[in-house]
Amino acid sequence: MILVTGGAGYIGSHTVRELRERGADVVVYDNLVTGHIEAVGDAPFVKGDIFDKKLLVETFAKYKVDAVVHFAAFSLVGESMTDPAKYYRNNVAGTLSLLDAMLEAGVKYLVFSSSAATYGDTGDGLITEESPQRPTSVYGQTKLMMEQFMSDYDKAYGMKYVALRYFNAAGAHRSGEIGEAHKPESHLIPIILQAALGQRSHIGIFGDDYPTRDGTCIRDYIHITDLADAHIRALDYLENGGKSTYYNLGNGNGFSVKEVIETARKVTGIDIPAKVEGRRPGDPATLVASSDKIKRELGWKPRYDTLEEIVASAWKWHSTHPHGFEK
Ligand code: UDP
Repeated sequence: MILVTGGAGYIGSHTVRELRERGADVVVYDNLVTGHIEAVGDAPFVKGDIFDKKLLVETFAKYKVDAVVHFAAFSLVGESMTDPAKYYRNNVAGTLSLLDAMLEAGVKYLVFSSSAATYGDTGDGLITEESPQRPTSVYGQTKLMMEQFMSDYDKAYGMKYVALRYFNAAGAHRSGEIGEAHKPESHLIPIILQAALGQRSHIGIFGDDYPTRDGTCIRDYIHITDLADAHIRALDYLENGGKSTYYNLGNGNGFSVKEVIETARKVTGIDIPAKVEGRRPGDPATLVASSDKIKRELGWKPRYDTLEEIVASAWKWHSTHPHGFEK
């Protein structure tokens, strides 16, 4: 049995769906602060906080949990700069509580959502797992600290983990039934599509004076189903005796903010208005992944490998659910 913390969130709910489609037994654990119960579907669900060690230990025993996939975290770069306490408390202290509950219950395997934000500004090249980790945001710093805990818990207690360093998760489930729904929304593709739907007057471009080809930030967008697939491979790997490790997850292609807006105009057929605004603190100029390690070691490969496909799947969700999970 696999327990998924944050399984009602964007990446968590897509992973739960993918796991269950492949016949795995899953229990979702989420405090519903940012998650949506509608995204959980009919999977077994426990409403709880990662700080509630007692409830976690009871849930591990009740469902005979042998592995955890840990998504529960706050994840907004901008907010982490203005409210670091919230990020250190929840992401860092919350993860310690979860790890301690796992130790107490004898749960040995953990797949963990880390982030490209742990690398910070590395310049133009492809980021490999051996690139230096120097986060430029508090959010990135919290994810790096969480990786450090896991490595130390492995050395001391033999807890095995795979940390997946995501680049920019995007898109929605092929059914169009679940997708990205943050409140307030801060991610680029959903905001562009909200502007396409007329819910915003325009998309604001956060800075056009970065050292990139058109001056706007470059990111590596990866489809949510491809991310989910990587978690499943990581779980199989650990359950087959794999040692603790970490992998980048991206497409290997970087797109600038302006290029993403252009792609969305093409996909939607709508001339989405855009305006250049100031930089957002904490944003590195370029983040593009080399995902060769996970391709080589776990046989993972992105199935959605063009930005058009990714944006089109997001559009399928947003255009049919303009208010997310709310009616
Ligand atoms: N961005 C932007 N306007 C927005 C939201 C995001 O220009 O309204 C930019 C942001 O500065 C970054 C990129 O789009 O360069 C992706 O941002 P997002 O918040 O989606 O993901 P992040 O890279 O922060 O994880």
